[in-house]
Amino acid sequence: MEKMIGKTKLSLIQGDITLQETEAIVNAANTSLLGGGGVDGAIHRAGGSKILEECKQIRAKQKGCPTGEAVITTGGNMATEYVIHTVGPVWSGGNRNEEQLLRNAYCNSLSLAEKNGIKSISFPSISTGVYRFPVDKAAKVALATVKEFIQEHRFEEVRFVLFSERDLKVYEEALKEIFTS
Ligand code: ADP
Repeated sequence: MEKMIGKTKLSLIQGDITLQETEAIVNAANTSLLGGGGVDGAIHRAGGSKILEECKQIRAKQKGCPTGEAVITTGGNMATEYVIHTVGPVWSGGNRNEEQLLRNAYCNSLSLAEKNGIKSISFPSISTGVYRFPVDKAAKVALATVKEFIQEHRFEEVRFVLFSERDLKVYEEALKEIFTS
């Protein structure tokens, strides 16, 4: 599914984020920046050891990456030029500022992309795996945040790469809802 928002294409696809050829892909990392399971593990495997080395250099300067913040490395062996590593919130019921922290993760990733002159970027569904953020809620937060950001800042494309068919459907429903409300 695709929607134009101003001059930016917002697209939703099912696939593997490590194979995307956008200028940047976003990693749902953890605060240590040392890799983990899920999409984080897949990105470090596909990108190779260079990404972990760059993450360690960042850690040496600023420890790790707090929840909601973002840092940038190269894409190592992947087709993408950059990986933006952001940390989504762990879901713990919804009263621990999870929505705002998820919004921050998307906004800070997009701001960092813009600062680096990046025009096309792919996101995974941040926080909805091991971090257990309910995917229907997360989809609405993700899409509303991105929509708002790209109304003010132009990109060529912002792509969501959903791993499962079910997640793609949930994101498609959320996008329709955002456009009809
Ligand atoms: P978090 O810790 O932020 O919840 P996870 O990696 O556990 O991050 O899950 C985030 C989402 O990424 C999940 O929907 C998971 O299915 C998805 N995912 C896992 N591997 C990939 C991949 N290679 N490409 C795109 N999405 C992926």
